[in-house]
Amino acid sequence: MTDKTSEKLKSLLPDNMSDPLNDSKGHAELMKHKRLTENAFPHVRMRRLRQNSAIRDMVKENQVQVSDLIYPIFVEEDIDTPVAIKSMPGVVRETEKTLVNKMKEVQDLGIPSVMLFGVSHNKDHDGSDSMNPNGLLARMVSTAKQAAPDVVISVDLCFCEYTDHGHCGPINGHGDVDNDKTVENIAMQAVIAAEAGADIVAPSGMMDGQVSGIRHALDVTGFTHVPIMAYAAKFASVFYGPFRDAAGCSLGHVKNVPAHRKSYQLDPANARAAIRDALMDEQEGADMLMVKPGMPYLDILAKLREKTELPLAIYQISGEYAMIRLAAEAGALDYQSAMMESLLSFKRAGADMILTYSACDVANWLK
Ligand SMILES: [Zn+2]
Repeated sequence: MTDKTSEKLKSLLPDNMSDPLNDSKGHAELMKHKRLTENAFPHVRMRRLRQNSAIRDMVKENQVQVSDLIYPIFVEEDIDTPVAIKSMPGVVRETEKTLVNKMKEVQDLGIPSVMLFGVSHNKDHDGSDSMNPNGLLARMVSTAKQAAPDVVISVDLCFCEYTDHGHCGPINGHGDVDNDKTVENIAMQAVIAAEAGADIVAPSGMMDGQVSGIRHALDVTGFTHVPIMAYAAKFASVFYGPFRDAAGCSLGHVKNVPAHRKSYQLDPANARAAIRDALMDEQEGADMLMVKPGMPYLDILAKLREKTELPLAIYQISGEYAMIRLAAEAGALDYQSAMMESLLSFKRAGADMILTYSACDVANWLK
């Protein structure tokens, strides 16, 4: 103890107490003495409400529930058995046949919705298979709807799973994705999905004007009741890596076409642009907004929550799922606890809905 500290303590001594500097028991006595802590704490003690699990449960602000979950499913055409995705342990590409059982499982688990992604074997420049009423997109929607009528069928609307160059729309003369042509195409894709039985369409291409284009197309074809969940703030993130494996839509294999999506997806550096982009989707008629990816963009979700009254979804993407799963396999984390904590962070930041590859596991844990 320094001289200064001893002096300070001495000044706190009650009159009848011995001087700690001249008494061997002095310091110990002094540390035990009540007056040392008298008036040192405020009346408020946060630990009162943390003392046991019953009280902790009473004051819990957020909770992950099965009804929050949306389960993303990959469906690959022309395969006989499901294909495991190496970088995403526990996730497979379903066949069109195994999709039926998967949908029944989802329904039995009480998961309210799925998000379907096609893995096409019929790719071309425009992704035309997805605009064909007999194409993979239409077939998987109708198969899923028939297999599990109680599950809300959401479908990802984009072209990257269906184009041979892997971009989210046709490429123009400058080697970039043609915005307005993509909007025309995605409007058609939306109508095909709605005709096949989609309950929610979810455009993910980040093209300007795509929400109003889709809304108009759905309304004039009699699908006024089909809501749009806009991938409103979707960032050009490296965390999509495992998804690209899963959906077979990697870039960089075609000459003179960029190996990135930075000319349409958001810059990870930009929060204000993300909010502007998301609010523009609201103005265009989106019924729900989504932030994607999840954990690296919690600030965007929390900011957006303050700016809009629309329901908000967040997508815990493939790289986030892989980080948790692979860390658990390496013994560094407990899968269940780490997953539940990460999902809880989405609720805390303002999410109403969570897309996660762990949805079936979570539903089982919550049983
Ligand atoms: Zn895309």
